[in-house]
Amino acid sequence: MAKHALLLFSLLALVGCHSQTSMVQTLPPPSLGAPRIAQRQAPVAPRVTTPTPTHSSPSATVAGVPRDWIPNASPRPWRWIVIHHSATTSGGAAAFDKMHRQKGWDELGYHFVIGNGTDTRDGQIEVGPRWPKQKWGAHAKTPDNRYNDYGIGICLVGNFDVDRPTAAQMRSLSKLVAYLMRTYHIPASRVLGHGDTKPTDCPGHHMNVAAVRRMATQILADSGVQVEPETQAAAAELSPNSSRP
Ligand SMILES: [Zn+2]
Repeated sequence: MAKHALLLFSLLALVGCHSQTSMVQTLPPPSLGAPRIAQRQAPVAPRVTTPTPTHSSPSATVAGVPRDWIPNASPRPWRWIVIHHSATTSGGAAAFDKMHRQKGWDELGYHFVIGNGTDTRDGQIEVGPRWPKQKWGAHAKTPDNRYNDYGIGICLVGNFDVDRPTAAQMRSLSKLVAYLMRTYHIPASRVLGHGDTKPTDCPGHHMNVAAVRRMATQILADSGVQVEPETQAAAAELSPNSSRP
């Protein structure tokens, strides 16, 4: 019965969208609570079973980088790279995607996740579902939202208040950061820890963002990529917040 009533209501509502407004006006105001909940819950099952993050495979490379690092969508004018830790001992893009959806977010808030050998290989770089769409991030909220709008969010799995990132994670992070700096013309001074954007412990005091800047800049120099003067200058003037041990 309830199903029939809902169907009837839906039909009336549909009709109302077009022309028969007078008929709709005679109806009691619709209860928006029930349909909203139904709409929100309905997509959960297929979303969870859909493997949204893609996995970098060494065999699928273009010009030395994994194919899935190169988005099909037109590039967003990225201005920052923001590094996070997950503050968990284990995890991966799929687990964090689920967590973020449970918080009511649209999908995984980071653009990339770097594994620690728990859910994914140590140092494995997963590309989140936002990246191919070149979609704004949901990882570094500030009043003007600039770091979400134009910041590439990279999360390393681990709690770096307690543990250190693995050597493989740091190598992968530096390689990814170097690629992003080069491709989107982001100077080293705009490679930030989450804590450089607002007061937060993330990415943990064992994550040395200054070292990441140096390693990425070195990778670019070693690969013969012309490091822009702005980038060199920026690397020299590291912000005091980032010179963590
Ligand atoms: Zn963070």
